[in-house]
Amino acid sequence: MTDSLPWFKDGLRFKCTGCGGCCTGSPGYVWVTEEEILALSDFLKISREAFIKKYTHLIAGRISLKELPRSNYDCVFLEGKRCSVYPLRPKQCRTFPWWKDNLSSQDAWKEAAARCEGIDHADAALFSLTEIQPHLE
Ligand code: SF4
Ligand code: SF4
Repeated sequence: MTDSLPWFKDGLRFKCTGCGGCCTGSPGYVWVTEEEILALSDFLKISREAFIKKYTHLIAGRISLKELPRSNYDCVFLEGKRCSVYPLRPKQCRTFPWWKDNLSSQDAWKEAAARCEGIDHADAALFSLTEIQPHLE
């Protein structure tokens, strides 16, 4: 049965350094669900409508967080190197780097590592296969 195990069967190393690199630097989308919009609106004490207008835009029919104007593609919630809505950051942010695309192959993982200093970081903890797999379901 070993043949059916993924390439990361022995686990992967990751430790977020808080560098903020994944929240800036290149164009991208941070998708937000209706539940996340409501939770973030509540957190920021504004209405859902005001939140949508101020912090999001529509991309091909889906809602994504905006980037700050005249920035290096900084997420609208990036303040310095930290996320100003960290406790309620969207699932997409919370589950990084355990995304299907990043785990699809060793090369994909290396590409993600080139953008994130926490992947394979010298001090990184080893995440086991059983810890990683639930993120892929
Ligand atoms: S780029 Fe990686 S190490 Fe830096 S904040 Fe993002 S997840 Fe953490
Ligand atoms: S919501 Fe927070 S964690 Fe997610 S991209 Fe924006 S600043 Fe980064």
